Amino acid sequence: MKNKGTSFYIEAGKRAMQWHQEHIKKMKQCRFDTIAVHGIYSMQEALDFNQGSIIEPIYMSTSQTYRDSDEMEAGLSYQIPTWCYSRIGNPSIYYLEGVLALLESYGTDLEASCIATASGMAAIQSAVDPFLVVHKQKPGAPMNFVSTCQLYGGTFQQFAVRKDEEKHIQWRKVLNPTDTQEWENLIDENTRFLYGELPSNPSQGFFDIARVAEVAHRHNLPFIVDSTVATPALLRPLAHGADIVVQSVSKSLFTSGFGIAGAIISRKNICSNIDNDPMKADFSTYLKLLPNRDNGPNISPMNAILALNDIRTIRSRMDMVSRSTETVARFLAQHKHIEGVDYLGMEDHPLHDLAKKYLFLVDSEHDELYKQKVNRYGHLMSFRIKGDAKDTRRVFDAFQRIYRATDLGRIKSVATIPAISTHQQQGEEGRKLAGIPANLIRLCVGAEHPEDIIADINQALTVLDGKEVSSSAPEYSAGGASSSRLG
Ligand SMILES: *Cc1c(COP(=O)(O)O)cnc(C)c1O
Repeated sequence: MKNKGTSFYIEAGKRAMQWHQEHIKKMKQCRFDTIAVHGIYSMQEALDFNQGSIIEPIYMSTSQTYRDSDEMEAGLSYQIPTWCYSRIGNPSIYYLEGVLALLESYGTDLEASCIATASGMAAIQSAVDPFLVVHKQKPGAPMNFVSTCQLYGGTFQQFAVRKDEEKHIQWRKVLNPTDTQEWENLIDENTRFLYGELPSNPSQGFFDIARVAEVAHRHNLPFIVDSTVATPALLRPLAHGADIVVQSVSKSLFTSGFGIAGAIISRKNICSNIDNDPMKADFSTYLKLLPNRDNGPNISPMNAILALNDIRTIRSRMDMVSRSTETVARFLAQHKHIEGVDYLGMEDHPLHDLAKKYLFLVDSEHDELYKQKVNRYGHLMSFRIKGDAKDTRRVFDAFQRIYRATDLGRIKSVATIPAISTHQQQGEEGRKLAGIPANLIRLCVGAEHPEDIIADINQALTVLDGKEVSSSAPEYSAGGASSSRLG
């Protein structure tokens, strides 16, 4: 049998890519919900390649077979779209990446690309490492990056320990991120990127994305934003000038809690003072084909499709859980055992006005229920108990429906005490920087009816009624019920 020749496959590959690009362009015309539901998977793809399957199939195969050596050569040199090996390319992963790129660039004419990773932490590492490389002209020069300190605990550790302490890549901490001048003052010729998380987990930090992006770009630096808490249903940082968005897909996007996943979504032609043109031209694709191919932090196809399946309902879910969170926050704010509630949706939050400028339910103006742009603030909030660390644990231990878990974004309500869980490792000093007091409970309201969540919190707070009495009560006073549970 005569081989078809590499050029035959390259031509066929070009036609396929063009067809895909046109389909993606068509999807970009659709509303957010339609994109979330269909992503980049089409009827034609279902019929021609997937036995008509209306749901994106889970391709568990590690690799694809090639028709001949010519097709293999074209595939492995990236001259044609290929599923050569699942660490680099896989159809199921491609569907997840396609939908996230469209959702994060929704409402703009930006062409975004995406690479999915095994976790949010892998996404953060993958997003920052390409900038932390040695300059050929200045091999011995130190490196630094400028970032907020109100960060997810894992990110705090990655920056403080893995980068700063172990590699001497200096983390220049922005203490008041709403002060754009402070960001600017920390930048010098050895700065590689600007980084911020908003709303931050759990302390609800916020800053003016557009103004920080402007500072970054004035210094030819990329601005990386962790937008996990908002999800693209409430905020799309690329539209405000961010170059790269990281998502812990594990959270609200993957609400069922079936797995861990992360993603990087980038605009084309990002700013950077690193001399690497392919990286700047299409950051996510560059990561996919080169650094992440070599480092291997990639997601499994199973998790990709499970996440994709939850993403279909992200808009209506974020609307619902945001409204419920507001209801719960208002209840907590007037409770006698509560010192304070931190929720960006509350008018008395110092960052409320700034958050109000940025956090909107996408497409609410096209929703016949709302007919206008409405603010929604997500389902992460925290509250402080009137009392010490011990009192806080007692309230926390009394929850009967709200799960005690270091998790958020779940369809079920979950709560944690950050000082003893997510932010335990960074010590008192680090917690102070991140704004985490010992009496803080982080609550992420799920999709239950808010009245039932309020009832659970209300009964838990009764442990603080007449403190003296209950503190002298025996350890396991509930008798049968609690001891049988222990046994
Ligand atoms: C959970 C989380 C991460 C880390 O994501 P994983 O998927 O758990 O690795 C990063 N940023 C934020 C804001 C998070 O909440």
